[in-house]
Amino acid sequence: MEKNERKRMEEALRESEEKLRVLVEAISDWIWEVDQNTIFTYISPKVKHLLGYAPEEIIGKTPFDLMPLEEAERVGKIFQKITEAQEPFARLEDINLHKDGHRVVFETSVMPIFDSNRGFMGFWGINRDITEQKQTEQKLKESEAKNRTLFETSAEGILVADIETMKFNYANPSICRMLGYSEEELKKLHVSDIHPKYVLEQVISEFEAQARGEKELAQNFPCLRKDGNIIWVEINNTKTVINGRECNVGFYRDIIARKKAEDQIKYAHSELNQIFNGLFPMCVIDKNYNNIRVNDRFNSFYNLKKDEAYGKKCHEIRKGHRCFTNECTMKQIIEGKEIVNYEIDKELIKGKEFSFIITALPYRNPDGETIGVIETFMDTTESKKAEQRLKESKEKYSNLINDISDIIFRIDLNGIIKYFSQQSYEILGYLPEELIDTNLLKKVHPDDLLKVANNIRETIESKREINADFKYQHKNGHYIHLSAKGRLVIKNGKEEITGIITDITKKKKMEIKLRESEKKYRGILENIAEGYFEIDLRGNLIFFNESYLNLLGYSREELLGLNYRKFMDEQGARHAFERLNYVYKTENSLNDLQLEVIRKDGEKRFHQTSVNLIHDSRGKIIGFQGIVRDITEKKKAEELEQKFKEQLEDEVQIRTKELKIALEQQKLYLDQILQSSHIKDEFLATMSHELRTPLNAIIGFTDLLLEGGYGPLNRDHLEFVKDIKSSAEHQFEMVKDILDISKIESGKISLHLQETSIKNIIEQIKSTVNPDYSKKDLKFEIKGLKNDKLIVADPIKLKEILIHLLDNAVKYTTKGKITFIFKEDKENWIFKVKDTGIGIDKKYFDIIFKEFKRVDSEYVSSLPGTGLGLSLTKRLVALHGGTISFTSKLGVGSTFIFTIPKSLSIPSGKKVESFLDIL
Ligand code: ADP
Repeated sequence: MEKNERKRMEEALRESEEKLRVLVEAISDWIWEVDQNTIFTYISPKVKHLLGYAPEEIIGKTPFDLMPLEEAERVGKIFQKITEAQEPFARLEDINLHKDGHRVVFETSVMPIFDSNRGFMGFWGINRDITEQKQTEQKLKESEAKNRTLFETSAEGILVADIETMKFNYANPSICRMLGYSEEELKKLHVSDIHPKYVLEQVISEFEAQARGEKELAQNFPCLRKDGNIIWVEINNTKTVINGRECNVGFYRDIIARKKAEDQIKYAHSELNQIFNGLFPMCVIDKNYNNIRVNDRFNSFYNLKKDEAYGKKCHEIRKGHRCFTNECTMKQIIEGKEIVNYEIDKELIKGKEFSFIITALPYRNPDGETIGVIETFMDTTESKKAEQRLKESKEKYSNLINDISDIIFRIDLNGIIKYFSQQSYEILGYLPEELIDTNLLKKVHPDDLLKVANNIRETIESKREINADFKYQHKNGHYIHLSAKGRLVIKNGKEEITGIITDITKKKKMEIKLRESEKKYRGILENIAEGYFEIDLRGNLIFFNESYLNLLGYSREELLGLNYRKFMDEQGARHAFERLNYVYKTENSLNDLQLEVIRKDGEKRFHQTSVNLIHDSRGKIIGFQGIVRDITEKKKAEELEQKFKEQLEDEVQIRTKELKIALEQQKLYLDQILQSSHIKDEFLATMSHELRTPLNAIIGFTDLLLEGGYGPLNRDHLEFVKDIKSSAEHQFEMVKDILDISKIESGKISLHLQETSIKNIIEQIKSTVNPDYSKKDLKFEIKGLKNDKLIVADPIKLKEILIHLLDNAVKYTTKGKITFIFKEDKENWIFKVKDTGIGIDKKYFDIIFKEFKRVDSEYVSSLPGTGLGLSLTKRLVALHGGTISFTSKLGVGSTFIFTIPKSLSIPSGKKVESFLDIL
């Protein structure tokens, strides 16, 4: 039994070993065994298949011998650790070299072997060839990396959405940028979250169609960015499975930029088209005269069908006189002209006359090369016609326009203009044709619309006259002021309104100006210190300023409407009425009407007032106006002065009388002297010298006093000094005359005869006497001196004679004229001085030439005079050998006549020195 048992056990063991061996050798992995020193002790036959070696070739080697050097080192270290630990080890990847040199990657698992005493014997190992798997893995890795790069760097946005949940799984940086979300945020979103609401329905159906694989491209889709803005995208879709789930991979392309560019092009194109088709007929012609583009306007201008112009030469459509000449626009443009303009007047196009301006410009290719011309046609037919019509109508109506400046109009009851005369052009800027059949109200200023409309309605209803002022828009856009007057008429059985429209713009402006200036003047009036008043023709106050109120002491309410008589006494009121009546009748103004007025408080005041008429706009007198000044104080001062003057006069008179008496005495005294003895002349000469010296001093000093040389004189002093001066002068004159007479008498004076021009003498005398007769308003006439006369005489003395006579004539004449008459007879030159003065009573005829004798009349004695003038004159005439006489009639005038003999001749002897000269 024991033997059998063992045998059976052995048998069983062998069987099991065999089974194991077959198993080991059947599996595709390579099984091996190494001892404690890692030396192969068993190799399964699979090694041949995997590494190309027969097992016997490897037995006795180590696993490391089959590896590349670096790998052997790495794996050796690992084995060392395993050996030390004596533990199993799984799935170590190691690289081995096939017998033919290629690399084989094994996945190695080992298990330690122990003997029955648990002594370490080595390892069992199993190597699985994972080379292919590794290679696939590597490839996958590479492709993954490639894809990831693509995914990460793609300019297109990539968004992956789970088909079932419609939520996003992946998003690349581009889509994140496009939509403004981070990847994490996007991963939480639903497809519907990134599109605006109005496209959601479409988005879902698009997504589903893509999921079903029916559609790949979704064009022009709006996407909603995180910031709320919309971007436009084109989505290209692919379906795929990721991690076992079906997904839509969307590739998003931002088409905004493209869309923008496209839009711009579209816009520009349409704009160009509009421009091209818009205003004028246009055509583009190439260098061969072919029409290469024409616009709609061009076609309609030339009555062409849509494409009719193409294929035709320009001159086949419109042959002008410039075609084939040097004036051809093409020629000029090609030669370098930038623009050619020319005018066509009345060209016949399909039976109608047209006028237009053609403008030709170069047509250039994008390189700037001129390849043809662009021509535009501006139709001026209408404006030409209008111009012509205007000219004609202007001519036709020029007379009328000259006469009437208003528009004659006719409108129907709705305001529609049925007729406007030509003045509408002058006034409104429109030709009548432009306005006829339009509504008058259309251009009326909105502010006046209601007024005019009401006016028309009232005219219709009450049949009364339309009379409306309103503003109307001129063709130039400005509003002008018009005034319409008209009435209802029946024309062709229809009721219409007809009348005239007047331009009152100027008037209105004037009104405004007037109002402004009135305001200004009122402002001034209120501010002046003088009173200003306006009264109506009945004398009631209708306007006045503040100052006027103050002058009279009334309040404004009290004074308004009050009659001027109310603040004057009866006599004053009568005087005022007379003066106002004078102004009313003569239309003259008054400047200083002085009135005594009674203030409200009873005080009497003097007013000086100006008075002018007030006219209304038609020139009718409606009242009076004036400026008033209170002159009460001034008047008082004047009265005082007057009184003072009167007193002074009295005093002066007394003085003058005294002086007169003194003079009389002096005269008597002198008379006696003159009549006395032979020593008279000597005496006189000495005396007069003695007399004249103090007189000179008196005159000199009084002059000095009068000029204020010793300080200002008071009024009294002034008057006295003046009296003193005139008396002294008088006496001086007298002494001078006396001296002259005495000198003549004593033969101490002689003539200085020479050729003397009468005209010269008269001229010199005139300037001396002139102030006197012009003061008295006397005329001075010269007769008989058409040509100058040269006579022989002593010019100084002749002048003295004439001055005396003319002086007297002026002195003793109050009105009329003085005439100087020059005559001659055979022997004499005859001089006459004629006046229209007081004349001389016959009884004084004898004394006129006597010394100190004057006519004894009140008038004569009121005038200064010595009574010596004529006696001296007589002597001077006699000295010349002539005679003097006079004729006179009391109250009519006097004529003094003297002669100078022609026989006088210029002596050759020496001039005798005059005594006068010594003085
Ligand atoms: P006087 O004029 O200084 O008094 P005249 O000797 O010149 O002296 O004149 C003497 C008088 O003759 C005057 O006082 C005057 O009465 C009178 N007389 C002289 N000339 C005229 C004259 N042209 N008309 C009137 N009377 C005259």
